[in-house]
Amino acid sequence: MMCPICGAHTVVKETRDSRRRRECFNLHKFSTHEVVIEERAFDWRDVASHPGKATQVASHYSISVNHVYAYRSRLRDEQRSSAMESRNLQPA
Ligand SMILES: [Zn+2]
Repeated sequence: MMCPICGAHTVVKETRDSRRRRECFNLHKFSTHEVVIEERAFDWRDVASHPGKATQVASHYSISVNHVYAYRSRLRDEQRSSAMESRNLQPA
C-alpha cells in the first residue's frame, strides 16, 4: 500500500480488527480498512461449452484464452472416454 499523500511505501504500525494504521517513509499517517473480495465462481464445463470464439469466452469469464483451450480439450477428452465406455457396454 502506497501513501495517499506522497506515494511512498508504507508500513503497518497497528492492526485492530479489519482496520490498519499505516505510516509512510515520510511519516504521513493514515488508516486502511480490509475487506473480502468476492471471487467470481464458475464451472469449467460452462466455460468449455460456451459458444463463440475462445477470445470472446475468455473475456466473458475474465480468464486467459489458454484456460478456455484447456477446458475445451478436457471436455473433449471426457466426451471421448464416455463415448468409448458406452460402446463397451453394448452387448456383443
Ligand atoms: Zn507519505
